[in-house]
Amino acid sequence: MTNMMGEFEWTPERVAELTKLWATGLSASEIGRRMGITKNAVVGKVRRLDLTMRRAPAPPKRAPSVVTLDRLASNMCSWPQGEPGSEDFRFCGHPALPGKPYCDTHCAMAYVPAKRKVGTAA
Ligand SMILES: [Zn+2]
Repeated sequence: MTNMMGEFEWTPERVAELTKLWATGLSASEIGRRMGITKNAVVGKVRRLDLTMRRAPAPPKRAPSVVTLDRLASNMCSWPQGEPGSEDFRFCGHPALPGKPYCDTHCAMAYVPAKRKVGTAA
């Protein structure tokens, strides 16, 4: 366990480098490797610098494609998946068709022609 206090000095040049690397979208651990510091040092400094978090750290227990209500944009498919209220409830999130709330797949499901009747278990 190394103590970064005193071991690594955040000179303006290094801060600039960190900011630049961070902006390129590299992971904190990769930035740390390039700068010769720990991932934690990178993350800690980024927080202190208040750099814009370009992406939320992906929660490991969730698939990257999960779209929750707070992430759902107006141009994304709002087809609900899973059970409302449960933890895995989410929205499709695929690009919606113009003027429609759903993607092409879910538009096809939402607007089923009467002749192709499927068992509706609402
Ligand atoms: Zn969809």
